[in-house]
Amino acid sequence: MKIAIIGGGAAGLMAALTAGGKGLHIDLYEQNSEVGKKILASGNGRCNISNTNLSAEHYHGEDPSFVTPALKRFDYKAFERFCEDMALILDVKSDGRVYPLSNEAKSVQAAMRREALRVGVKIFTEKRVVGIGKDTNGFVVRFEDETKYYDIVLLATGSAAAPQLGGSLDGLRFAKELGHEVVEPYPTLVGLHLAGRLQERVAGVKVDAGLTLYVDGRVTKRTRGDLLFTRYGISGFSVLDISTEASLSLSKGKSVTVGLHLLPGYDRQGVLALIERLAKRSYRIKPQELLQAFLNSKVAKEMLKFLNIEPTASVAELDRKLLRKIAATVTDWRFSVIQTHGFKHAECAGGGVLTKDVDSKTMESKKIPGLYFAGEILDIVGDRGGYNLHFAWASGHLAGLSMSRR
Ligand SMILES: Cc1cc2nc3c(=O)[nH]c(=O)nc-3n(C[C@H](O)[C@H](O)[C@H](O)COP(=O)(O)OP(=O)(O)OC[C@H]3O[C@@H](n4cnc5c(N)ncnc54)[C@H](O)[C@@H]3O)c2cc1C
Repeated sequence: MKIAIIGGGAAGLMAALTAGGKGLHIDLYEQNSEVGKKILASGNGRCNISNTNLSAEHYHGEDPSFVTPALKRFDYKAFERFCEDMALILDVKSDGRVYPLSNEAKSVQAAMRREALRVGVKIFTEKRVVGIGKDTNGFVVRFEDETKYYDIVLLATGSAAAPQLGGSLDGLRFAKELGHEVVEPYPTLVGLHLAGRLQERVAGVKVDAGLTLYVDGRVTKRTRGDLLFTRYGISGFSVLDISTEASLSLSKGKSVTVGLHLLPGYDRQGVLALIERLAKRSYRIKPQELLQAFLNSKVAKEMLKFLNIEPTASVAELDRKLLRKIAATVTDWRFSVIQTHGFKHAECAGGGVLTKDVDSKTMESKKIPGLYFAGEILDIVGDRGGYNLHFAWASGHLAGLSMSRR
């Protein structure tokens, strides 16, 4: 039995080393000069490899429950044992995120590559697949310079995110040509562009903020964490955490707005009480000084401009209505989101091969026997926190097991 694995990322490597060592002929093709470039870049080079709190709730797509059989088969404990077997020791953080104990993504990529080679997988790098067909002899895999035949093909070409690391749309093209439907990809875990120019003047300021995502005026998600103002808009962990819903909604032409809560330890009444107290006790201070008591000075200046308040007036001149308006803006300052920062800067992509046409218990196509899928090529995207890599491992593992049992 000859197997071609297209894509040497997390999913392709895991499938290869799971199916390997059983007398099968396995060729793995990777267009980059080395396998696992996204593994190397993940978690800022530390690789947030998995999470101990795994469930379909942390995944998105037309049918998030598609992930359940793969996660059950390869839950965190099974994954941990698997890693130990290849001398990769994991470190579980208090919030459930998992990293290699070495704190280095390189150790993950190196272990996967070493193990795949050890079980007899042939790895071809700088070898881009340009087309896949099927005829009576099996699958025809076309390269720029040659054509090869295989009994089984696994598409593990990832997503369009981060093209500089190998992100590509090739796999979706192959899937479509073979008769699969695809949900148009959209960037996720990515910064957001805001309307207006205010952000340019506060670019570089980092704060702890609460974020509310409004889609067509309705609250869709709330998060809290680091928020970084950038020249184009906003980034940081709290933004990445709302970016999947924001990006999907934008791709459907919906109106997307984000509300920034810049003093997340206080509710609106608490902020009002605070500014009233400050205004009363220090009535000689100016509005800019009042806001600077709890906001970054650049942000405070922009907020006063937005509210049409003269920064050098006296706080004594601010009536209760205006103080209420300040409290409302501090706790829910609304900005229109016009687009995401794009695939180049995205960690992942939503959309992909429609999962209803793939058997979630085997990862085999329901349309083309012998064709398998694993990883981000599928219409599944996970939350930040190790969920995307874990789905790549789990779906790759399941595909590897199924292919070797055919
Ligand atoms: C900067 C960054 C940081 C990230 N950090 C994390 C993190 O900490 N935790 C986490 O869980 N997730 C993280 N992710 C997401 C995670 O890396 C991906 O979800 C995961 O790698 C997907 O695995 P995959 O095997 O499906 O795809 P990939 O890893 O993208 O592998 C697909 C491979 O296929 C190759 N390929 C594509 N087309 C062809 C072709 N025609 N011929 C030959 N080869 C081809 C590509 O070059 C690529 O190497 C991060 C992503 C990025 C970009």
